[in-house]
Amino acid sequence: MTNDTATTADDAFTQNIYYSNDADASYIEDKTVAVLGYGSQGHAHALNLTDSGVDVVVGLREDSSSWPQAESDGLRVTTPDEATAQADVVMFLVPDTIQPAVFEAVEDGLEEGNTVMFAHGFNIHYNQIQPPEYVDVTMAAPKGPGHIVRRDYENGGGTPALIAVDQDSTGEAKQEALAYAQAIGGTRAGVVETTFREEVESDLFGEQAVLCGGVTSLVKHGFETLVDNGYAPEMAYFECLNELKLIVDLMYEDGIGGMWYSVSDTAEYGGLTRGDRIVDETVRENMEAVLKDVQSGEFAREWINENQAGRPSYTQLKRHDEEHEIEEIGAPLRDLFEWEDESSDNEPAEVPADD
Ligand code: NAD
Ligand code: MG
Repeated sequence: MTNDTATTADDAFTQNIYYSNDADASYIEDKTVAVLGYGSQGHAHALNLTDSGVDVVVGLREDSSSWPQAESDGLRVTTPDEATAQADVVMFLVPDTIQPAVFEAVEDGLEEGNTVMFAHGFNIHYNQIQPPEYVDVTMAAPKGPGHIVRRDYENGGGTPALIAVDQDSTGEAKQEALAYAQAIGGTRAGVVETTFREEVESDLFGEQAVLCGGVTSLVKHGFETLVDNGYAPEMAYFECLNELKLIVDLMYEDGIGGMWYSVSDTAEYGGLTRGDRIVDETVRENMEAVLKDVQSGEFAREWINENQAGRPSYTQLKRHDEEHEIEEIGAPLRDLFEWEDESSDNEPAEVPADD
């Protein structure tokens, strides 16, 4: 690679990632932000924005169990339509499947120059929400669960985030999204500029093929192979599920090379020679097919219909998964971990209960 090419690639990368010095707080600090929903993301955005000096009003249903929680956290709470009427910026942090109905309920409160914001682009990209052309439509999406977004911010750090602009009626949409990302702590870690399409398609593909779908299938197949061949389920659990975290931690800290460095030469040779026999070219073809369903909108249509039908397949698949032997063997083993009498890191204790 020539020097020129390297410089160009570097520039392309650094132009798209923003840190605290790149953001201008004045684009958000005098505005009122309505945060609709007070779950995982909602509580983190509302509290971080408030601590950054932004005026926040939380919008919740009157019978929401989160209402007293948000009030006791020191926040102003009202209904979503009233919050929207009061706000300059409206952030949708209710579940994605509920957002279209909530949007309909609050739409009349949107004024010219207001901003409609999302932490995930599904409903805009797949046209389930079509905001009027006189508002800005942007995204500020932390790349982490809400309780981490809050904890990182309180510790003086931040969770990396994405920003994107779908509609810019004011000419200030990007600056405002960046200022919002700063106010929730994102620029302390790095804010990547993207598009709604890229965020949605890469997010759906990643969770389906690798993170949530692919990895759980890999773990279950490995567990079943050992158990079916007479090995103890406890052994199989520790080998195929528990130890995965340790391997992922090594990759997270130092990349795949850092993981190879830490495991034994035998593990490295076995992994290098056998890995591609397990996840082979047919898996790659399956991934292409899953990506095509995401790109064509086929997955979105399926999921929207599934919700309209009351989630019959979802409920059945979920039950089937919960009854898998790896779950039955795993729960008591985790309870026996000596550190489990303290509060588990996996339980977002500070996140208000959903209702
Ligand atoms: P959640 O399920 O944790 O919280 C939803 C909140 O909405 C709850 O407080 C609930 O009471 C409230 N709510 C439900 N129905 C409502 C209604 N009709 N009117 C008003 N409020 C209602 O949701 P979440 O996981 O925080 O997701 C919110 C958004 O953030 C989604 O777009 C999601 O894709 C995105 N996101 C989530 C994560 C994550 O890790 N959880 C990460 C990045 C982006
Ligand atoms: Mg649009």
